[in-house]
Amino acid sequence: MEQVVIVGTGCAGLTAAIYTGRANLTPLVLEGRQPGGQLTTTTEVENFPGFPEGIDGSELIMKMHAQAERFGARFQYGTVEEFEQKNGINRIKVDGQWIETKALIIASGASARWLGIDREKELVGHGLTSCATCDGAFYRNVPVCVVGGGDSACEEAGFLTRFASKVYLIHRRDSLRASKIMADRVLANPKIEPIWNTGIEEYLTDENGEMRGVKLKDLKSGTTSKLEVKCVFVAIGHTPNTTPFLGKLDTDEEGYLTPRHGTEMNLPGVFAAGDVADREYRQAITAAGMGCAAAISAERWLAGLE
Ligand SMILES: Cc1cc2nc3c(=O)[nH]c(=O)nc-3n(C[C@H](O)[C@H](O)[C@H](O)COP(=O)(O)OP(=O)(O)OC[C@H]3O[C@@H](n4cnc5c(N)ncnc54)[C@H](O)[C@@H]3O)c2cc1C
Repeated sequence: MEQVVIVGTGCAGLTAAIYTGRANLTPLVLEGRQPGGQLTTTTEVENFPGFPEGIDGSELIMKMHAQAERFGARFQYGTVEEFEQKNGINRIKVDGQWIETKALIIASGASARWLGIDREKELVGHGLTSCATCDGAFYRNVPVCVVGGGDSACEEAGFLTRFASKVYLIHRRDSLRASKIMADRVLANPKIEPIWNTGIEEYLTDENGEMRGVKLKDLKSGTTSKLEVKCVFVAIGHTPNTTPFLGKLDTDEEGYLTPRHGTEMNLPGVFAAGDVADREYRQAITAAGMGCAAAISAERWLAGLE
């Protein structure tokens, strides 16, 4: 029987591992299919406190990993396939084997939805991203585009006008899905130019493999054209990684975990932290903060059992 199992090794899971490790709980930490989480897919991180010159995303994660190991966290490659709670014990099936634990911290993150175009994975961090708050400031006085038509796409487009010389908003339909107030704001902004009924067919790169533009396809006429942009911000939503927990833990309509109090879920001894329970901020520092909160709550809950 484990004291604490932590699902995920992104910023939330690793911070929870540092705190529960330092509390002598020797947490078992599961890596899942993306060891290190989303931050390993980006290059420069400029907004994580403590690194005035910025830090490479993977390097930041490696430092957190080493810090957690130093305090006794044990790491295991494995993915949670099923979850149940029986007689107050949390049970998770990891690659076919059941693990029992008193406390469970779920920090399984969320995955950005991408367009499914060739070379997409290799271009993330080289002019392709899903986060304007994270990467907008890298693209000053150059044209960029946002893909999507919902509230997040409008929010990202508006935010990017602070930096970019021009923001193209590429949308598959002829009107925005976003709330009226958001849509009106975007359409009134002279720096934003919507491109309707259009999809991206191909990413175009320069000799260094950095984004230099996109090949567009008019979905009504079928004609194609090229658009020069230095960065593509894909804003077509995120999917929380909650499949093994659906129907057993509280979620909202999109599947994000919804803690009842702080990070405490509807079942005793189960805590949620990071992007898996946060559709609002989705930042490394907020995920780390929630990981800390979940660890302290788990620690107190375990102390209460004794
Ligand atoms: C391209 C990009 C650039 C970004 N840049 C910045 C930035 O500059 N600054 C910033 O603050 N934020 C940035 N972010 C956002 C930041 O990366 C996330 O907010 C943060 O990683 C969330 O951490 P997390 O621990 O909640 O989840 P994640 O990082 O998503 O980690 C989830 C972890 O859970 C594991 N997992 C998932 N399902 C299972 C399962 N079933 N079983 C076991 N393990 C599982 C995964 O393998 C992974 O290890 C960026 C995101 C992207 C995509």
